[in-house]
Amino acid sequence: MENTLFTDLGISEEVLKAIADMGFEKPSPIQSAALPALLAGRDLVGQSATGSGKTAAFAIPAIDAVDVAVRKPQVLVLCPTRELALQVFEEFGKLSKYKKGVRGAVIYGGEPYGRQFRDLEAGAQIVVGTPGRVIDHLERGSLALDGIKTVILDEADRMLDMGFRDDIERILEGAPEERQSVFFSATLPKPIQELIKRSCNEPAHIKILPPKGEAGKNIEQFVVDCDRGAKASAMLRLISFNRYRRGIIFCSTKIMVDELSESLTEHGIPCDRLHGDIRQRDRDRIMRQFREGAFEFLVATDVAARGLDVDDLEVVFNYDVPNDAEDYTHRIGRVGRAGRTGTAYTFFSSKGERFHMERIASHTRFAMTRARIPSKDEVDKQRQEAFATDVLALIASGKFKKKEAVAAKLLESGLSPSDVISAVIHFYEHGGVDAEQPVPVAHHQV
Ligand code: AMP
Repeated sequence: MENTLFTDLGISEEVLKAIADMGFEKPSPIQSAALPALLAGRDLVGQSATGSGKTAAFAIPAIDAVDVAVRKPQVLVLCPTRELALQVFEEFGKLSKYKKGVRGAVIYGGEPYGRQFRDLEAGAQIVVGTPGRVIDHLERGSLALDGIKTVILDEADRMLDMGFRDDIERILEGAPEERQSVFFSATLPKPIQELIKRSCNEPAHIKILPPKGEAGKNIEQFVVDCDRGAKASAMLRLISFNRYRRGIIFCSTKIMVDELSESLTEHGIPCDRLHGDIRQRDRDRIMRQFREGAFEFLVATDVAARGLDVDDLEVVFNYDVPNDAEDYTHRIGRVGRAGRTGTAYTFFSSKGERFHMERIASHTRFAMTRARIPSKDEVDKQRQEAFATDVLALIASGKFKKKEAVAAKLLESGLSPSDVISAVIHFYEHGGVDAEQPVPVAHHQV
């Protein structure tokens, strides 16, 4: 199975071409295991972590099963959140771009119905949606399930946790019985097993989870034991000292997300925030801007950050201890993706939180290594060294405009170069001659 190629699997030329465009060289383990069964039309229960390539594993066969001559829903994918629905939809879009006549619709709550009606009416064969909105469309008559050939439940355990059980059962009952049923779920608690038993016909079971302790192997994991009031400054020092530029900070409440992102902004850290009270349109924009690197740190609650697919993050801060081992693994799994390495810090402040963290650590089998918080002097010294290195690199690159007249005037004044450079840095940091306080641009302070 290790050496399977995409071309060995009977995938259509159109989809193979799209796979090549996406830069996938060979199937990931979950794809090697799931694709043959799914392409053969079997039902399937897949257990695999995020980042394993599970979306393509179910999207490729689903796209190839679409009959483009029939302009009605044939594939239905249910996702727990709008963010995940959008990402899954995007992946379907990329994989089907050469298959002419394939249309899709993504339907989720918190957005007006207009576009969704239009996409469905236009004859979408692939529908990706959240359970609540799918039910709404069924009730309004804008979505029909009688032509459905494949139903896919992505992150099924999450959907049940979020209270979508009744909606899912109704949707499954409404789809034709001879359909293909596909469940992807990290865990298989009893209610999921019951649902599988009722809706699947001799499903293939595939479990590709990293063995315990393997999860997050390429992620350095630390804990930080400090007073509640000292958490923000400890985190700021870690960010400055390590020169982190891309990360997520998880908090357990919306209020904490708001407060922390405000405080980080005041300290000159380019950041934005995500939680359930933020309007959908703004959430989409924030996610997009974060992906594009418009700001450096995202402060978020667990739910808001689910499905966030950003591959280049360096660090995760668990500003509050996560609920359980699964949430912990999920949170830290935002780094160390696609073969990269990353770092995760978890803060705890009380005995209770410490105890809770110990349980998570024993479950996920990682050593609770304490992070050393650098002193203010160390942070300052590191910043100065980094600034000097950056300036030398800039000079070496030659990518700056020469200011010969100013330079000559400053140097001819008979002052020492050290005074001149220090005064220029003061000017740069303080935004002028008289300002007492540095302008809050932490990364750029020397
Ligand atoms: P997922 O588990 O579906 O969230 O996928 C995680 C990431 O891996 C996504 O950015 C995919 O585009 C990417 N990916 C999926 N399959 C492959 C593959 N065979 N080779 C390389 N990257 C892949």
